[in-house]
Amino acid sequence: MSRLIYADNAATTRLDPAAFEAMKPFLVDEYGNTSQPYAFARLPKKALRDARETIASCIGASPEEIFFTSGGTESDNWAIKGSALSNTCKYATVTSAFEHHAVLHPCEALERLGYPVAYMWPSQEGYITAEILKKYITSQTYLTSVMFANNEIGTVQPIKELCDVAHENGSLFHTDAVQAVGHISINVHNLGVDMLSASAHKFNGPKGVGFLYIRNGIEILPYSDGGAQESGLRAGTENIAGIVGMAVALKNNCDALEENVKHVRGLESKLVDMLDNTGIQYTRNGGADRLPGLVSLSFPGIEGEAILHRLDLNGICVSTGSACNSKSTEVSHVLQAIRLEDSYAKGTIRISLGKANTEDEVEAIFNALVKIFRI
Ligand code: PLP
Repeated sequence: MSRLIYADNAATTRLDPAAFEAMKPFLVDEYGNTSQPYAFARLPKKALRDARETIASCIGASPEEIFFTSGGTESDNWAIKGSALSNTCKYATVTSAFEHHAVLHPCEALERLGYPVAYMWPSQEGYITAEILKKYITSQTYLTSVMFANNEIGTVQPIKELCDVAHENGSLFHTDAVQAVGHISINVHNLGVDMLSASAHKFNGPKGVGFLYIRNGIEILPYSDGGAQESGLRAGTENIAGIVGMAVALKNNCDALEENVKHVRGLESKLVDMLDNTGIQYTRNGGADRLPGLVSLSFPGIEGEAILHRLDLNGICVSTGSACNSKSTEVSHVLQAIRLEDSYAKGTIRISLGKANTEDEVEAIFNALVKIFRI
């Protein structure tokens, strides 16, 4: 097989070598438990404190508003179930139909417990606008949850406007920012969000660690009961090495944000411009406000999975927007939510370029695509 071209950075990212170096001592020598009072636990305790401060400063939060979790799925589950179950007078949730399953499935779990959930349909361009939210939100809505950026089509939602509508109607606002943190500039206080979920492996941190930002004063049930970790809200011995790695990766990405965005946007334009000059029939999904590097393309008359496998034979990793079973191709809930025509939806691939991708790699992806459509 030829060299690997990794263009699936929305699925996961390569671990930042500096993050790996920072993690090592806590996996080997500095294994003290932060809950212990002796001197041997001092360094991990300090590392935990420093990581919390670093992460808070990257998103404009205060350190006590950062709660470490096992990743995006846990953060979303905690935000959604923890706020619903802690509220005694209001009971309804509003979310969007094209959230990640880490949001949709906890919402469905709430519905099974008798809590109503409304699922907003985005525009065909892939946005939940303030006008859409106003149609769904009621005085009984205790939580509005809208993702920062969609993981399949990359559209970045107007979070501040949505948050304002939620607050005007007395609702809390949570955003699943798993695809956005470390890739676009975020300041939680300027946005006004009450909760925000993030996951380290999406921004060159390790897998199995993330955080939930919970604004000071927000009432939420503990995610787990047990020890006093995370201010008593998320019991369980902390994943110190993971947390340290996450902080280093996030800081490095945030420090180089402008440069990374410029690089990745350049690659993305190159790919799209080259494709536009071939005459190959395709559509690019989502409106103009998109995550840097995320290119969702739909080709009519071919299955996304066939494209994926052909690219895989060339050592190129991308995702599809559909899943084949033995009888038919099932189009993802995101593509259904934006009402993408079926013949296009079935032929969808997601190319997600990252800071490590090069122009040569983009040319190789382009050449491989041309080969698929010209044969
Ligand atoms: N939310 C979004 C938007 C995602 O893209 C993902 C992962 O793909 C998750 C949540 C889940 O995150 P994790 O893999 O850290 O559980």
